[in-house]
Amino acid sequence: MTNPTADSEARATVFRDVRPFGGPVVDLVAVDGVLVDTIPAGASVEYVEGEGRLALPTLVDAHIHPDKTAWGEPWHSRRPAHGIRGYVAGDVELHRALPTPLAERALRLMAHAAAQGTRAMRAHADVAPAYGLEGVEGVAAAREKLRGVLDVQLVAFPQHGVVRTPGTAELLEEAAAGGLVDAVGGIDPAGFDRLRGDGDSAGKRQLDVVFGIAERHGLALDIHLHDVGERGLGPLREIAARTEALGLRGKVTVSHAFAVAALSGPELDATADLLASADIALTTVALSASTVLPFRRLAERGVRVGLGSDGVRDNWSPYGDADMLHRAWLLGWALDLRLDEELEAAFRLAADGGAELLGLPKADLRPGSPADFMLVEGECLPQIVIDLPRRDVVVRAGRVVARDGRLV
Ligand SMILES: [Zn+2]
Repeated sequence: MTNPTADSEARATVFRDVRPFGGPVVDLVAVDGVLVDTIPAGASVEYVEGEGRLALPTLVDAHIHPDKTAWGEPWHSRRPAHGIRGYVAGDVELHRALPTPLAERALRLMAHAAAQGTRAMRAHADVAPAYGLEGVEGVAAAREKLRGVLDVQLVAFPQHGVVRTPGTAELLEEAAAGGLVDAVGGIDPAGFDRLRGDGDSAGKRQLDVVFGIAERHGLALDIHLHDVGERGLGPLREIAARTEALGLRGKVTVSHAFAVAALSGPELDATADLLASADIALTTVALSASTVLPFRRLAERGVRVGLGSDGVRDNWSPYGDADMLHRAWLLGWALDLRLDEELEAAFRLAADGGAELLGLPKADLRPGSPADFMLVEGECLPQIVIDLPRRDVVVRAGRVVARDGRLV
């Protein structure tokens, strides 16, 4: 029999004099990637000095597009664009114009995110005849290089549409069969991705394809839904019905869900109940007051919600920095949060919302939780959400992986 606490080979890392969530000064002890109560007897011990810094859980980016980014590239001047068609045409142009290969750009952004305290992300990579599987393969290569630092779930995302862009369904199938992706994506099945006059007001054609692939390959689904009103709610009901019928509860996410953000009162509650009963999660990116999801209300009714960066300095937008603490700030700004408990809720959404959505254990700095946290200078959590201090130390599985905003 082996008793891990008496194992003379045990190694512990003690993070001395830190303040979890801004509370009293304590030592955090990590063994085998997990926080424990006390240093195991006979363990060799390494010390990291916290010097009174706050310890906060590292964060989860529930929705990001590393394949599209121009982060770290020469400045890209954007042209006016109208509708998804215009934006995706610009995506292809930018992809061809950027001097750095996609895999390298994705790695640069993902490494930056990890150094700012992101412990995991769900990355969408475009799958379309214009790129083949370059996006999926490039982000998968970056994921491999960051193994042990950043957990990455990869979504094969048909940004150009499945119905309107022939060849996409076959590429999605190939991506799924290749084993590199965790989920199949989708996009506005009743708005953007339908043929004129086809009468497909619930987006069934696209949903047939993406649900079929997910079912055949045992993958999750994560569908972009920007459409509002019935064009968004119709597919949402269809997604819920299919999720239940195919036994995919807990494996389906709808991203953005602006149609849900536009609801209030009993309509919002009824839609939340529909989502909760099918265990469909939502992600939000805090773009604006009118499109951000009312995450606290949704959580009260049992809907899992994650927070994400979306595109970072890409053709769609010059904004974004893949810093999830900054994203919590943006969420607070979009929702006009001002009370301490509201600012803390914004942080918790960035920390716990995405973790739950990605199926990761909660990092709450208690014994038994993953030793995933960051050390920052500051006074208290609400102030940190506002002031966005430098991430002095980022710890992943008990190991220091970044200092002063850079991977070590
Ligand atoms: Zn997106």
